[in-house]
Amino acid sequence: MESGLQELKFSRYNQKVELSGKLFLYNALTGGYASVDEEYRDNFDKCDFKKLDSMKELAELPNAIINQLMEGGFIIPKNFDEFNVIKSMHYRGRFGANKALTMTLIPTMNCNFRCPYCYEKDKKYPVKKMTTEVMDAIIKYVESRIDSVDHIFVTWYGGEPLLGLHEIRIMQNKLIELASQKDVQVSGMIITNGYGLTKEISDELVQMQIKTAQVTIDGPEEIHNRTRFLKNGEGTYRRIINNLLQANENLEVVIRVNIQKENIKYVPEFVDSLKQVGIDKRNNIKPYFSLVRDYEIDKGYIYSSCFSVPEFSEEESKLRQILLKKGFQPANSNIQPKLYGYFIEKQYVFIVPYICFKFFSCNNSVV
Ligand code: SF4
Repeated sequence: MESGLQELKFSRYNQKVELSGKLFLYNALTGGYASVDEEYRDNFDKCDFKKLDSMKELAELPNAIINQLMEGGFIIPKNFDEFNVIKSMHYRGRFGANKALTMTLIPTMNCNFRCPYCYEKDKKYPVKKMTTEVMDAIIKYVESRIDSVDHIFVTWYGGEPLLGLHEIRIMQNKLIELASQKDVQVSGMIITNGYGLTKEISDELVQMQIKTAQVTIDGPEEIHNRTRFLKNGEGTYRRIINNLLQANENLEVVIRVNIQKENIKYVPEFVDSLKQVGIDKRNNIKPYFSLVRDYEIDKGYIYSSCFSVPEFSEEESKLRQILLKKGFQPANSNIQPKLYGYFIEKQYVFIVPYICFKFFSCNNSVV
């Protein structure tokens, strides 16, 4: 073995992935990604990444390759403790110098859609809106924190938040006014089904500093309309696509495509249909693929149609290739999964539901 390798070991976050007969390496801690040349394939096939000190298969590799493996974090100095890196990411995330006040606000849990996989489907979509008392309490809370922050970021969530547009207007304008007195920035995003996202409303959102919208489309028209339909059963695909094409160009639109075993085969057709209407030419609209999860404690009725996380990770890279080949820029540039280090609630992150002023650390706790 080359003498230098004796001082090195494998990262414990290495993965080998075989795609279309080619071998790729991926490091989940650094996000490092490498494609293995055929002439070195045998060396890497024989490597056992679980035996961290077993580097003998790399002994014959040129120094340039060893350097690249170090650069990607695939091999690291023997005395390097990766767990300490994760701990430090975690503490930086929780207690670091980030001075943003991040809020998720729910103006209503009502929705005009009836998606079968909705986490709200048993809650009967209450029509109530965020009350004046709740809005006042949020503003009071922001006033109490504003001297210690430099940025307020709001995610508008629901239900369908655009059914509470009046409440969004009141809150967003109050926050902007409050922040302007203190040299604090305000920005936001909205997670909407896209049905009510008309040109006029997209203009208004941008003007209220809500400059990102996440809109879910589940596949080509027929497939999308099977899972994302109105209360009366009518399809929603055409109206959403028309809305996106006319949306304000300063609104970043992220198209989320929920992937299940039933709809994955329609992705190429869906990407073609987006291209046909010119979505690929719109720099402000970017699609990405998301895993549908069954959050029920006992396996729910969608369990059998959900991919597991490892299965989805493999599928996701193929789906991204489809987007890239057709000239789309995927919305999430990181290859998943990647360790981020801070898995529990961050300072200042909370969610305010519409009828009471209460902090939650996770969207799933609200309903
Ligand atoms: S659009 Fe969202 S909130 Fe409305 S039914 Fe579908 S999943 Fe539920």
